[in-house]
Amino acid sequence: MITNGLDVEDGKTFEADICVVGAGAAGLTLALELAQQGLEVVVVESGGLQWSKRSHQLLDVELSGRSTKSLVEHTRERFFGGTTNHWGGSIRTLSAFEFEPHSWVPNSGWPITRSDLNPYYIRAARLLGLPEVDRPYDAAALGFGDRPRLISDTETVVEAQQWGTVPDEYLRIGQARLEETRKNTLLRCVLNTTITEVHPDESRQRIASLEGRTFGGKTLHFRARDFVLCTGAIENPRLLLASDTVVPGGLGNEYDLVGRYFMDHPSAMMGPLLLTDPAAGLFQEELLADSGLVGWATSAATRTEFQLQGFMAIQWPKMRGVQKPLTHAHGIRDLVHPNAESTPDAPPRYLNVAVNWEQSPNPLSRVTLSKQLDVFGTPKPDLHWAVTAADISSAIRSSELLCLAVARSGHGRLRRLELDDSPTASLTSGGGHQMGTTRMADDPQNGVTDANGRVHSLENLFIGGSSLFPTGGWQNPTFTIIALALRQADYLASRALTTTS
Ligand SMILES: Cc1cc2nc3c(=O)[nH]c(=O)nc-3n(C[C@H](O)[C@H](O)[C@H](O)COP(=O)(O)OP(=O)(O)OC[C@H]3O[C@@H](n4cnc5c(N)ncnc54)[C@H](O)[C@@H]3O)c2cc1C
Repeated sequence: MITNGLDVEDGKTFEADICVVGAGAAGLTLALELAQQGLEVVVVESGGLQWSKRSHQLLDVELSGRSTKSLVEHTRERFFGGTTNHWGGSIRTLSAFEFEPHSWVPNSGWPITRSDLNPYYIRAARLLGLPEVDRPYDAAALGFGDRPRLISDTETVVEAQQWGTVPDEYLRIGQARLEETRKNTLLRCVLNTTITEVHPDESRQRIASLEGRTFGGKTLHFRARDFVLCTGAIENPRLLLASDTVVPGGLGNEYDLVGRYFMDHPSAMMGPLLLTDPAAGLFQEELLADSGLVGWATSAATRTEFQLQGFMAIQWPKMRGVQKPLTHAHGIRDLVHPNAESTPDAPPRYLNVAVNWEQSPNPLSRVTLSKQLDVFGTPKPDLHWAVTAADISSAIRSSELLCLAVARSGHGRLRRLELDDSPTASLTSGGGHQMGTTRMADDPQNGVTDANGRVHSLENLFIGGSSLFPTGGWQNPTFTIIALALRQADYLASRALTTTS
């Protein structure tokens, strides 16, 4: 069922077994799954069914540190379906290695393992219309097995990666699941209603209700046995910190951890990757790129040996179209292939390479509350994105290893990543993958939430989405967000059975 908050009488209270805030990748997946398991669910969504300027303005953020506008400006959406209204649908799972603590990365390690998520990745793949969980790099399957590979398959420093791609009919999760949301009688989605405060009861150990506001000036209330905030990695901590009427300093913030460890995947362009023989024809990697992102990531063994954080490179934008001429083209060609006798007049051919890398979880990279208020009187978030010298040097070293792998293949040359590592220099952008601000940890002194996403100090308040991630890996986050939402649904459904029986 869908209800428009603007049409509801002022002061109304909605009641359900579970109340979910946010109808994006995490919240909508969780809410529909819970309803399918027989629970009554209310999901509260700040926006409507379409983009609107007035709800979008609620995403306004104050910025400092390495933060540039591009980090937050086009990287979140505030309406039904959330940011999946404009995501790319490229899919990778986090490998087992990403869940493990790495001695060279302070504060790394998840309280769950990859095997805890295995069944949920399978279910997530089904929901997204994907034929498999992890798409293998398989040129032969597409008939390109006889073409040369740009980076050799015997290379162990970097590994070839082929991303899964969510088919169009599943891509915009809000649109794809709208009819289901409309028809499910156990689920009520209340649109155009922004949760502005989470109210604990007198014990301060349980949440009693949520308060929501509409642009029409109404105040709505939501009561449930369990509550789950799925509003994204900037808005989740904002809501916890802003809910300070009863508990000074905000909810779940006993150890001053809410909003800390903010991470994104910093991104930049490398290259161009100049191909040694312009007339050699297309490589496997270029041909495969037509059916999804193709690239390389530093292997677990390399990361362990060189003590590196995650790093991946992709062909971006995908090549095979018309190439713009390169500056100093001839000089570059001479450098790549000084004796290119077979193709003396061929213009250099190149691939563009974009890279994303993992940040080390850093308590000084954080979301706090600004002194500025939004239209509902809630403090805006203040984002201080700290990218450390270690993050930068890890990315540069990883890029050098990639360059060496390209050189070893003999098919091309690539220049290492150039980044300004002075602490105040802005990076070009993040990857639209905000993470880490209510991280999971077994010990409440190391994380806001436990292994099920429950806020340690509150019996019935849960968090969903990538703010749970203790580390970000190099992989795009949303497949893991959806797998975690399905796992949380099972947990909440079994908890409901225990509490009612
Ligand atoms: C350009 C771009 C491309 C991307 N491509 C990929 C990709 O290829 N692969 C990948 O894995 N990821 C990709 N992502 C990331 C992906 O979109 C996010 O990881 C994912 O959408 C996050 O899901 P979420 O549910 O946590 O948050 P969202 O999807 O942002 O949903 C949050 C929801 O909460 C609502 N909300 C917020 N505050 C409140 C409140 N106070 N009250 C009520 N409701 C509220 C919002 O309106 C929104 O609907 C991309 C992102 C961008 C920007």
